[in-house]
Amino acid sequence: MAIYEYECLNCRYRFEVWQKITEEPLKFCDKCGGELVRLIGNTGFILKGSGWYVTDYARKEKKETSQKEEGSSTSEKSSQS
Ligand SMILES: [Zn+2]
Repeated sequence: MAIYEYECLNCRYRFEVWQKITEEPLKFCDKCGGELVRLIGNTGFILKGSGWYVTDYARKEKKETSQKEEGSSTSEKSSQS
């Protein structure tokens, strides 16, 4: 048995269910019949996760390019002397 957290995409209703691993995941919300997503591990990983992934990836790329710029520019050094 394992505990699964579900969230309804339609009404945002969240709940936890004890299920066997072999049991089929729930698909429809009890309250409104909307589509459910199963949240694995961290709470809200799927819904918030997509946004987090995009911003993190963009930040990484930015960092890499700025590092390259720093390395190639020597104007800072010469202005200090
Ligand atoms: Zn619902």
